[in-house]
Amino acid sequence: MEQSPKTELDDLNEALIDGWMIDHEPKVLIEKLAETCTWISAGREEILTGKKAIITYLEAMAEEKTKRPLKRGSYTVILAEAGYGLVSIECLPMRYTILWVKEGSKWQIRHLHDSLYIYGETMHERLKIAARTDTVTKLHNQQGFCDAVSELMKAHDKRYALIKFGIKDFRYINQRYGYAKGEAVLQNIGKNLQKTCEADETCGHIEKDIFAMLYRYHGKQDMARRMEEVRHKLLDKHLLYELGIEIDFIAGIYTIPKGMQEHVKDMLDKALMAQQQVSRQQIGSHYRYYEESVMRKQYQHQQLIQYAPTAMKKDEFLLYIQPQFSISCGKIVAGEALCRWKSRDGTFIPPDEFIPLFEEYGLICAFDFYMLKKLCEKMKAWMERGRIITPISINQSRLHIDKKDYIERFCKVVDHYEIPHSYIAFELTESAFVEQYEKMIRLAGELHRQGFQLAIDDFGTGFASLNLLSVVSADILKVDKSLLDSIHTKRGRTVLEKVIELAHQMEMTVICEGIEEETQLKELKELKCDIGQGYLMGRPIPAEAFEKRWIEGNEEAKG
Ligand code: C2E
Ligand code: CA
Ligand code: CA
Repeated sequence: MEQSPKTELDDLNEALIDGWMIDHEPKVLIEKLAETCTWISAGREEILTGKKAIITYLEAMAEEKTKRPLKRGSYTVILAEAGYGLVSIECLPMRYTILWVKEGSKWQIRHLHDSLYIYGETMHERLKIAARTDTVTKLHNQQGFCDAVSELMKAHDKRYALIKFGIKDFRYINQRYGYAKGEAVLQNIGKNLQKTCEADETCGHIEKDIFAMLYRYHGKQDMARRMEEVRHKLLDKHLLYELGIEIDFIAGIYTIPKGMQEHVKDMLDKALMAQQQVSRQQIGSHYRYYEESVMRKQYQHQQLIQYAPTAMKKDEFLLYIQPQFSISCGKIVAGEALCRWKSRDGTFIPPDEFIPLFEEYGLICAFDFYMLKKLCEKMKAWMERGRIITPISINQSRLHIDKKDYIERFCKVVDHYEIPHSYIAFELTESAFVEQYEKMIRLAGELHRQGFQLAIDDFGTGFASLNLLSVVSADILKVDKSLLDSIHTKRGRTVLEKVIELAHQMEMTVICEGIEEETQLKELKELKCDIGQGYLMGRPIPAEAFEKRWIEGNEEAKG
């Protein structure tokens, strides 16, 4: 926006505010007062008239201001029209309207109007309140909220819950409708939130799109009702209609233990931690309770994630391989690479405890490449010693699928170690195929062009339809342990039988995972399953041990 040139009155207003509010020289202002000046304090019955009364008041104000210094340039002076100056002091909820008149050649103040007021408060209390009030919503700001919570908890020996919530996609409102509309939304929320509070409760606007409440706690059912009420009443219907979108919130609830001596900021932190637990994908869920055990777990997860890159550098991850056997002849025919984390204190962390975290925090892609390098290194050493079992399959996260140069990078690693592509099989879980159908079909095509084998892992755990088998040209179908576990029932056996039959018709090799019992193996043989993997025949073991036990042993058996 183009700025209009400064006028004489702009300078006058600025000099006035600088002198009065910043240099604390009421004289600057007093000198400008016309004899007939009036001060009307809006909303208050008392109207100050007469220069003397006004001067006494202004001097008291300047004194008050020395305690709360105002920074130069932190206020704006708005001139509505010639002779009329509107001054907003934004860091405090104050607004002075100054009416100038020209008497002879001199500008004089005819009228001072205090536009904002707090009924019946003394000036000292008024400034105190100002410092604790949010200028947009007129609710408590963070400091005000903390004070109000402390006071209420001191005054009432009752159970309370502290709730902190943020508006979902608030940035979108600002971007799409502008900041003025954003502020109108916040103001409206503030007004409505205030109405949800009972006499011994309070609420505040903490920052940006974050609000907090202190509600009485009468159990989860009652809280669920109140949260639903907040959700419905958050925004007036006309505003919702104007915006054309639903407004929702994500909240964290901290139920304060009775008699707990805790700083309110710590309580707000706990509510925030709970809030961060609400997953964006969880449709319908918009709040969570703070639970000590969950938070402890979350803290441990964060520690784990922070340390993971160092652990990779320190080579704390080990390559394990589990053998896979021909069900018809019992010979080892392939293997699956699996990782193990041997942490600093010597304990083994199983992959189920860190792989999902690596996926969540975006570490998985780097990690999968790290494990691929380890596998290739090992396979190269086997090849150099003239022995190998193929294919060895490697688990790959679905998060690679979106990466443009993924296959190229994968090939680069494999080619660096001169491993023939047919020696490696990709394992991608069934759910990856379901979520990103089209991309998976493309990826499968590309993998085949590069000569890799593709396995659909964990078949039977997700929502894949049998149609998947006809569309994606995978080479291997890995049937999940859960399907095998019901092989002893008639229905379970029929499902497995038909899945194996169908896969064979599609020319796929069927591997059954999680074989722990002889009877399972026997039944799988009858159903003509090709390959078996499970503790019954062999657990995952370190790659070095795998070579000794399964490759050397296999050669001896062959020889
Ligand atoms: P998965 O790909 O389904 O791997 C098979 C899991 O079944 C392995 O668990 C294996 O130890 C276990 N298993 C094998 N035979 C039996 C059995 O007879 N009974 C039972 N109860 N379990 C058996 P593990 O090694 O704990 O790995 C868990 C999962 O972690 C894997 O499931 C895979 O999804 C993931 N994972 C492991 N290593 C990697 C990796 O390097 N990258 C990625 N992205 N994921 C990995
Ligand atoms: Ca697997
Ligand atoms: Ca599996």
